[in-house]
Amino acid sequence: MFDKIVIANRGEIALRILRACRELGIKTVAVHSDVDRDLKHVRLADEAVCIGPAASAESYLNIPAIISAAEVTDAEAIHPGYGFLSENADFSEKVAQSGFTFIGPKAETIRIMGDKISAKKTMQEAGIPCVPGNGNPIGNDAKENLRMAADIGYPVIIKAAGGGGGRGMRTVHTEAALLNSINLTKAEAGAAFGNSTVYMEKFLEDPRHIEFQILADSHGNVIHLGERDCSMQRRHQKVIEEAPAPGITHEERERMGKLCTDACKDIGYLGAGTFEFLYEKGKFFFIEMNTRVQVEHPVTEMITGFDIVKEQLRIAAGLPLLKTQNEISFTGHAIECRLNAEDPDTFMPCPGVINQFHMPGGPGIRCETHIYNGYKVPPYYDSMIGKLIAHGEDRKSAIARMQTALMEMIIEGIKTNIPLQSRLMTDNGFALGGQNIHYLEKKLGIN
Ligand code: ADP
Repeated sequence: MFDKIVIANRGEIALRILRACRELGIKTVAVHSDVDRDLKHVRLADEAVCIGPAASAESYLNIPAIISAAEVTDAEAIHPGYGFLSENADFSEKVAQSGFTFIGPKAETIRIMGDKISAKKTMQEAGIPCVPGNGNPIGNDAKENLRMAADIGYPVIIKAAGGGGGRGMRTVHTEAALLNSINLTKAEAGAAFGNSTVYMEKFLEDPRHIEFQILADSHGNVIHLGERDCSMQRRHQKVIEEAPAPGITHEERERMGKLCTDACKDIGYLGAGTFEFLYEKGKFFFIEMNTRVQVEHPVTEMITGFDIVKEQLRIAAGLPLLKTQNEISFTGHAIECRLNAEDPDTFMPCPGVINQFHMPGGPGIRCETHIYNGYKVPPYYDSMIGKLIAHGEDRKSAIARMQTALMEMIIEGIKTNIPLQSRLMTDNGFALGGQNIHYLEKKLGIN
């Protein structure tokens, strides 16, 4: 096992990684921007290195500064968390070239999966069902593009090959709107991701978002930890996640899980990863693979007893997986609510000082957050300030526990989305389970 690693992230995930390291006896180096000196994990880490000013581009995305921090502290590996450089193949490559271990898949795998076009091709070849559409880059031939859309059938969706975070997508309902939409999406993708390549696929109108968690070690072992339902979304961003996905049968789980683990073996995948699917009328359609730990990993941990972050560390250190597929069982139901520093009505970010914080507790409740009394939420980063996870013997009891915990939680000084999450926990539609990805926006009156 490693002696010391660098945590190249901030907030709740940096704290989560630090805790996993402590349990495994690994020393930690926190790298942080100059406004993040008071982050909880920075205070708790064995060493801390300031890597730049508040702007992410100069700190959390500053590859030379992070690698220098690993050099001066004599660390052996770098955990990228999620977001920031976690899916940056150049970063992973430079980490390795500098003699450190990148805690994640090989740069080559990240590169393939980071481009939605090559990811889709690779998955099609590995036998994973994909959304209808040939997955080729859209060219400049108007006739050809109109024909492609007619073949797929409207509505279609134009997606940026380099897109992420729910951005770089445009739905097209009519032939008249197609060419203009392609040009707009290309221009936006170029500006936002530095890559104007776009492709076209069928826009599924009534899907759920269901994803499979996998773990692959360097000894050729690959397992899946079942699925999560992340259909409660706003602007293609997840708001609530749960595991297992309501209504998915044991047979479907095993069939899809096997397809995913076989695909991982095919591509020589290493580490933790997630296969994201849209699920409609009983069918799964691959949309993308995330080559990192995900925000919603705790719901899987709660129902499997696995510690996904510790597994990431063990895998990167060359150790074999702790369990085989046959030894994995699923217990109860888990739900995660993302806690954001934002206005619950307008969704505007709401940074500021937290002058009162009370963490909820009780059976089955887990709170993953870096905030504390007096902590100042900076305006420079994502507004997520933590996650509340509830585990119960079944879905109903998980919801009841979540509702109790949300009522008990106190965050004062800033606005949060706790009122919205509380409302959803008592919502009849949510209680039914299995709602599609548009449910939340419809409920909020956005559509
Ligand atoms: P990102 O990398 O930005 O998260 P994804 O490809 O994972 O993009 O898609 C994010 C979300 O966008 C999905 O969960 C779904 O809500 C919507 N989406 C993507 N592709 C389609 C599609 N073909 N049909 C309908 N909705 C889609």
